[in-house]
Amino acid sequence: MLPIGQKTLTDQIGRRIRKLRISVADACNFRCHYCMPENSTFMSHDRLVGPDEIIRITSHLVTRGVEQIRVTGGEPTMRREFREIMEGISRLEVKKLGLTTNGLLLKKHLPFLRDIGCHHINISCDSLIPDKFNRITRRQSFEPVMDSIFAAREMNFPLKINVVLMRGVNDDEIIDFVEFAEKHDIPVRFLELMRIGQACSDQRQEYMPAQDAIDLIKFRRELRPVTSENDSTSFNFLTEKNGQIGFIASESRPFCGTCSRWRLSADGFLRACLMSDAGVSLKGLSPSEYDGVFERVLPMKPTGRLTEIRQNMNEIGG
Ligand code: SAM
Ligand code: SF4
Repeated sequence: MLPIGQKTLTDQIGRRIRKLRISVADACNFRCHYCMPENSTFMSHDRLVGPDEIIRITSHLVTRGVEQIRVTGGEPTMRREFREIMEGISRLEVKKLGLTTNGLLLKKHLPFLRDIGCHHINISCDSLIPDKFNRITRRQSFEPVMDSIFAAREMNFPLKINVVLMRGVNDDEIIDFVEFAEKHDIPVRFLELMRIGQACSDQRQEYMPAQDAIDLIKFRRELRPVTSENDSTSFNFLTEKNGQIGFIASESRPFCGTCSRWRLSADGFLRACLMSDAGVSLKGLSPSEYDGVFERVLPMKPTGRLTEIRQNMNEIGG
């Protein structure tokens, strides 16, 4: 068990766990080509951890020092009990509650999310060109997603747009995204394509390092660095037109040494790293057993970057 009095979760190299990603569904209404195949199958509902149990587990983690929570998936808005889960988590004492979504079903949830005090929404958007967006997601989805983005903007929701950098797919739109950030005052964050599941093999030729995108932007913009928290996964810049631009360079500049994140999968596995399938199931355990699991998971966090993981991103929780 954790030593009595040790409230926080700090591992052998001093990384304190203060962020939690909760995947509430592995299912998705998109099929982004780098994330999952068209013919994906998903967990049956009875395999998912129920809302009460998610909140119980999360609440215990909060007493152990977790301060920031992000709900994700798969697509979190696909979960039948999405609102119940969000509402339960919002009652916990956390500094930040965020949501990562593809935006398709987001618009109708916005007033609810504002009412429960959701602090932040990340919306994924890999192209500003409708046909291309629809090809990447394999769904006719561009317009409703843009609609959600602008509805959230209209409500002054703190937002970020996540763009996965893909050479030969959307590298011709990097400046368009910078202009989008400037024009609409919505931060845009470019993500390096990680070697996860689908993206390990056939998408490998699409990988583009963040530095290549930065070099490209620097032809057109001055980029002023902005300081971030020590355990931030992104490094950020401001353009001279006040566009907020960030990069998550998980492949070329891994941040394992300062990583403060754990993940809870939709079926209740607590994992210490996105790139490792090591974890322990909390599903069905009583709260008195949680600390024992936390103690087992703490040393599972690798100290350096693991190369790849075969499991698809939606199954782990992105
Ligand atoms: N469905 C939601 C969405 O798309 O925002 C939440 C889950 S999704 C797995 C979370 C983020 O992971 C998305 O921004 C997505 O683009 C990103 N992602 C998925 N596979 C990735 C990969 N191989 N490398 C980098 N980012 C990836
Ligand atoms: Fe779904 Fe998000 Fe994966 Fe796209 S990236 S298939 S929206 S889970």
